[in-house]
Amino acid sequence: METTRHNWTREEILEIYNKPFMDLLYEAATLHRQNHDPNTVQVSTLLSIKTGGCSEDCGYCPQAARYHTNVEGNDLMSVSQVKAQAMRAKEAGSSRVCMGAAWRNVKDGQEFDDVLEMVRTINRLGLEVCCTLGMITENQAKRLAEAGLYAYNHNLDSSEEYYKEVISTRGYQDRLDTIENVRKTAVTVCSGGIIGMGESAEDRAGMLVALSTLNPQPESVPINALVPVEGTPMAEQKQVSIWEMVRMIATTRIVMPETQVRLSAGRTQMSREGQAMCFFAGANSIFAGDKLLTTPNPDVNEDMEMFKALGLNPQKPFVKKAQPQTVDAENSEYQSLGEKPRWTRPGHIIERNLAAQGKSKA
Ligand code: SF4
Repeated sequence: METTRHNWTREEILEIYNKPFMDLLYEAATLHRQNHDPNTVQVSTLLSIKTGGCSEDCGYCPQAARYHTNVEGNDLMSVSQVKAQAMRAKEAGSSRVCMGAAWRNVKDGQEFDDVLEMVRTINRLGLEVCCTLGMITENQAKRLAEAGLYAYNHNLDSSEEYYKEVISTRGYQDRLDTIENVRKTAVTVCSGGIIGMGESAEDRAGMLVALSTLNPQPESVPINALVPVEGTPMAEQKQVSIWEMVRMIATTRIVMPETQVRLSAGRTQMSREGQAMCFFAGANSIFAGDKLLTTPNPDVNEDMEMFKALGLNPQKPFVKKAQPQTVDAENSEYQSLGEKPRWTRPGHIIERNLAAQGKSKA
């Protein structure tokens, strides 16, 4: 029986989000068990292959060059460095390596060619490879697919309305267009967002409308709790409560029953009991490793202890979808087009972003 709907409305999702807690948990856990093995959790390792110095103004992000944070920037890592880290991740039990670069969008050229080589290398290690590199064109998506990419991450962050309160340098439609470019290939889509940025429950529901009405729905949806970082516009935001996090995870599970829901940033602030509740409510994927790009994350050993206490097993790679083939650079069907796409720059005023920028100049 088809359980996945693509016509959820904001009102319906809000009603689910606001249900009595126990009813919400029970409904989400039931759907979770119908669609997934409840004792298996997918473990990803996130590698920041190019850190900091980003031109964008995302209000939550310590990697934006315009905010005064303690993030140390790094140029693009080499293929051999990435290979060594991927091998360590595999040994520690990860089934996926996600490579993140602090770029607005992918530019054709040597750096992108290097990233393609990293994708080939990690795929050949027998791991799922994911990239989060900013906005990409159809040709770039095809080149990534050909290299053996398993998933592409591009978060919607929040509802379309609240997105305008967070970022002024790129538009929501560009994000949707990038997801559509990925969908033109066999690469799976990973897209989610962040709670705790000052948005309302309506905005959280709005983001879930945007994600759940995509057809097909994203194969992976990360739900992040904001980690407020000194120097960013959101440094003073109050941390979200575990109840809000569980509500968000459970609602995501109900409206996207087949998706892997990823309990992402913010786990260091959660107790093991809180995380166990998230797994019960439908989370079945986490990031491992002591850093999530630039913010702290629980140690791998701590996670494995938690898995043992809960009787959880890490998911093996390629159980949801077969391993993609890797085509060598010299046999590539898609060459670099040297594209210069016109992604938008809305450029509206976001007071708290400007205030944080001003502080950096002091
Ligand atoms: S979230 Fe990504 S695009 Fe936005 S500032 Fe950070 S690195 Fe740049």
